[in-house]
Amino acid sequence: MTHELKTPIATVTAAVEALQHFGALTDPKKTQTYLTISQNNLQRLSDMVEKVLNLAVDEKRELVLRPEPINLHDLVQELIASHQVKTPKPVTFQVDIPTDTLVTVDSIHVGNALNNLIDNAINYSGDQVTVRLTFQCSGQGWQLAVADDGIGIPKTYQSAIFDRFFRVPTGDLHPVKGFGLGLAYVRQVVERHGGRIQVASEPGEGSEFRLTFS
Ligand code: ADP
Repeated sequence: MTHELKTPIATVTAAVEALQHFGALTDPKKTQTYLTISQNNLQRLSDMVEKVLNLAVDEKRELVLRPEPINLHDLVQELIASHQVKTPKPVTFQVDIPTDTLVTVDSIHVGNALNNLIDNAINYSGDQVTVRLTFQCSGQGWQLAVADDGIGIPKTYQSAIFDRFFRVPTGDLHPVKGFGLGLAYVRQVVERHGGRIQVASEPGEGSEFRLTFS
């Protein structure tokens, strides 16, 4: 997080210094390059600040739900269609949700939460990934599991991943950009619905996030 915010600042600082001190202003091509670098990095910074501020507000404000009966199968199919357009790597989706599955939830927040889980399944995996979405009725409630065959999560970090700003440490190298806010939001959405979220994961084998609603 700190690193991601500091990098664009350092880059713009360096570009401005170059313009001030190293004669770049007398070279229109160099000037243009440094200005473009500055502009791109300021945009990145602005996007990140926006995201952090939005989530900071969300923490204070109770999440307001508007539950309504929705077809879970159709919602998941819509989400998958948008992921298939934007993902840069081969993703196989396996959906085991009956076509007539009706549940009463806030479709916007649950849709966002599932998007976060699918994004993570895709991001924290190798060159290709299989994402499985499975529905189960249990007692008076129901469960939805989102599972992948990606990099997995070491046992020691499995409870911390739901904390705000927590990311599994990877040393200096962080190939996946993020803030560690997605799963905190997912948990908030599930718990506001009176449900709970659990993770089962093995490093190198994959992860399964199980959402239980009553
Ligand atoms: P972000 O992805 O922005 O870091 P999240 O709150 O969504 O934030 O996830 C927190 C951390 O949990 C991630 O940084 C990653 O280390 C780990 N993680 C989440 N989902 C998965 C997954 N499906 N497979 C492996 N690791 C995961």
